[in-house]
Amino acid sequence: MAKAKITTIVTLCPVCDMRIHITERPRRFDIVSCPECEAIFEIVGLSPIELQWADDSIFKDEDFDANNEKQYAW
Ligand SMILES: [Zn+2]
Repeated sequence: MAKAKITTIVTLCPVCDMRIHITERPRRFDIVSCPECEAIFEIVGLSPIELQWADDSIFKDEDFDANNEKQYAW
């Protein structure tokens, strides 16, 4: 019986420096959240693990839509 070795990847939260443990095999564009400050990040790099604000792109999209709407209304 072969035991599958579970590797835990630890990366630091860019916001509060809390250690974020990633136990599953991470893939690009996976979403991880910080247990301390509950910030949500997207994995953009795998070796080493690179995190990017997941909220950021959402806000940008909303901003873009809002601008479009304003132009229409005007
Ligand atoms: Zn954090």
